[in-house]
Amino acid sequence: MTETTNALDLSYEEWTEVCTKRWELPRYRAEQLCQWIYGKKVFNVHEMTNLSKELRERLVYELLILPPITVREDESKDGTRKFLFQLYDGEQIESVLIPQGSHSTACISSQVGCPLACSFCATGQSGFSRNLSAGEIVGQLLAIEKRMGRDVENVVYMGMGEPLLNTAAVLKSIEILHSPKMRNLGARHITISTSGIVPGILELAEFHIPVRLSVSLHAPNDMLRGKLMPVNRKYPLGPLVDALKAYWRATGERITIEYVMLQKVNDEPEHAYETAALLSGMSVYVNLIPYNPIAIIRPGDKGYSRSSAGRVKEFSSILSKLGIENEIRRERGRDIDAACGQLRARSSAGEGGR
Ligand code: SAH
Ligand code: SF4
Repeated sequence: MTETTNALDLSYEEWTEVCTKRWELPRYRAEQLCQWIYGKKVFNVHEMTNLSKELRERLVYELLILPPITVREDESKDGTRKFLFQLYDGEQIESVLIPQGSHSTACISSQVGCPLACSFCATGQSGFSRNLSAGEIVGQLLAIEKRMGRDVENVVYMGMGEPLLNTAAVLKSIEILHSPKMRNLGARHITISTSGIVPGILELAEFHIPVRLSVSLHAPNDMLRGKLMPVNRKYPLGPLVDALKAYWRATGERITIEYVMLQKVNDEPEHAYETAALLSGMSVYVNLIPYNPIAIIRPGDKGYSRSSAGRVKEFSSILSKLGIENEIRRERGRDIDAACGQLRARSSAGEGGR
C-alpha cells in the first residue's frame, strides 16, 4: 500500500498481503484491523487499543483510512436521513438512510453524477464527474453507521450513478461488504439497481455473491423509454428482457422492476397492459414509485408531475389482474429531497442552504 492508498479500498486478501508482506506482521493483524474498521467503525489507529503502542505509532504513517466527510445532514419528518458527503478531491456524493421499523436501509452512490441523463433524475441532469472507488462506496456505509452508532441491515446501490457502468469497483465493494472478516453483510441484504446495462447484468449473473437485482424500467416500449432514458437507445427492451431472463436462469432469483409513475407520461392503462405483456413469464416484482419532483435544469423543459393516487391504483390493479405482482411504494423523505442527486445539484448551484 502506498501512502496515498485508502485502506478502505483493500479486499481481505489485499489486507492479508499488506500485513504479512509489507509490514511483516502476523496474518491475524489483518483480521484485527478489519474488526476495528468494519466492526467497530474506528478509523483512528490510535484508538485501536489491542495493538501495541509501538505498532500504532508505526501504522499511523502507513495506514490511511479515509471515509467520506459529512458536509451536510438532513433529517426528514419520517426519519429518513440524507447525507451529503465530500471525497478527498472535493467531489460530493449523496447517501440516504431509510429507517423501516427496527431495520434500516442505506442507499449509497456508485458514481459522482451519472452519464446516463435520464430526464426525470436530478443526478442524470447534473452530469458525470467520475467513478467511485470500492473504498469510497463502502466508506459511505461506514460513515453512516459510525454517525448513527448502529449497523444498518440493508444496502441498496440506488444513490447517485449507474453501478453497472462501474462494475469493477462495485463488485469489489460487494466483496468487502459481504466478507465475513470485514462488514459481513448477507448477500440477500445487498441490492444493485440498474437502468438496464445489458453486459453488466450478464456479468452480475455470473458473480459469486448472489446479491439482489433491481431494474429501472419506467416505460414498457422503446419509443417512450428512449425519451425518458437515453440508455434505452444503446440497450433497448428486447436485449434487456433477454438479459433479465438469462440472469434469472443463472441465479433463480426474482428480479425487482422499478417503475416511476409520471402523470400522463407512462401511467396510462395501456402502459400497464404493455408492461404486463413485456414481463409475462418472468419472475418479477414491480415497485410503482412516486415521482420525486426535481428542479428543471434544462431550459424549455416542462418537467414531470407525480401520477395521481387514482391513476397509480388503476395501473397497479391492471398489473395484478394480469398476474404481475406489484406494490405501490410509499414515499419517503420528500421534505428533504431524498431522491438522490437533488442535494448535490442544489449545492453545486450555490443554493446549499434553505
Ligand atoms: N442508476 C441506477 C441506480 C440509481 S437511480 C438506476 O437508474 O437504477 C435509483 C432509482 O431512483 C432508479 O429506479 C431511478 O429511476 C429512480 N429515480 C431517479 N430519479 C427519480 C425521481 N426524481 N423520483 C423518483 N425516482 C427517481
Ligand atoms: Fe443515472 Fe439512474 Fe439517474 Fe438514470 S436514474 S440518470 S441511470 S442515476
